[in-house]
Amino acid sequence: MATSKPKKAIVLGKRINMSLDERLLEAIGIQKITVKGSTGEEVEDEYNDKFGSKNSGVDVRYFIPDKEFFTPKGKPRKGDWLAEHRETGQTFKQYITGAYRGPCRRYNTMYLIPLVFKEDSVPKEVLSQLTKFAEIFFGMKVKLGKEREMLGRVKDRMNGDIYQAHAGNILDKLDINVPRDAFCVAGITMCDLYPKEEWNFVFGLARSPGKTGVYSLARYLSNFGEGSFTEINLDRDPLSTILVRACKTMCHEMGHMFGLRHCIHFDCLMNGSNHLDESDSRPSFLCPICLRKLQYVCKFDIIQRYRDMRDFWSENGLTEQKDWLERRLAKLTA
Ligand SMILES: [Zn+2]
Ligand SMILES: [Zn+2]
Repeated sequence: MATSKPKKAIVLGKRINMSLDERLLEAIGIQKITVKGSTGEEVEDEYNDKFGSKNSGVDVRYFIPDKEFFTPKGKPRKGDWLAEHRETGQTFKQYITGAYRGPCRRYNTMYLIPLVFKEDSVPKEVLSQLTKFAEIFFGMKVKLGKEREMLGRVKDRMNGDIYQAHAGNILDKLDINVPRDAFCVAGITMCDLYPKEEWNFVFGLARSPGKTGVYSLARYLSNFGEGSFTEINLDRDPLSTILVRACKTMCHEMGHMFGLRHCIHFDCLMNGSNHLDESDSRPSFLCPICLRKLQYVCKFDIIQRYRDMRDFWSENGLTEQKDWLERRLAKLTA
């Protein structure tokens, strides 16, 4: 182990000397160069792709970390994910040289499977919109499967008054009979989940990279904890609120299945989350690093994807999400 120590110190030293902006550009895999403008006196910033032809055909300006749209991640507050978990993040280079997964001709479909124990089912209106959003977000075919009865099929427990199902056990069940064309199978439930005996709960769990994942919407309801089993009350939690939380959780968990790790660089959909306020403050979009990773494997058209996402949020009456995309599109297509 003696040899690894000095090596680590050198890398750390290099990082400390870099400014925050340089570090972010390094993580995205682009380079800023300052060039003389047309009059020879003014200077302009230009950006270069550090990976050249490896990312063929994608305009590097989609990944410029424009401060108007992307906020570098600030210091975590007490109780936040990064205050309790030491994470080192994942640069674009680490992603493409690591264990990532992407769709291919054989494995090209995502499956969304509603799971039910004793609680209310995920509303049909939410499921159909989730399917549509996943199609846009990943640029892939998404199939909504039949609801599966899970009670008695996996390990469960009462945590105080709350009924919970074992998330890892659910993944084991989903691993059986994965459809032949499945890129991934994601379970979605209103039942609360736990990953290990010593943990209180988990919002979701996915094999990363891997084919199966599960996530719960139980803790996104304002009446969570009032009964042992989740009951939906649309007067207290309108469908639009459930939908935006469900879309964010689903895409975050599915993102792990492509090998995306938690993002520590920007405010981003791939930020880890420890509590409801933290999940709610997480944006519904990806930062330039995570967008670049996902585009690298999914090969979607970035502008078309932004347009489809804007239309989706607009149809569902979610103006905050729609407005960000509207502004982003105006900037990128100017
Ligand atoms: Zn996560
Ligand atoms: Zn990110």
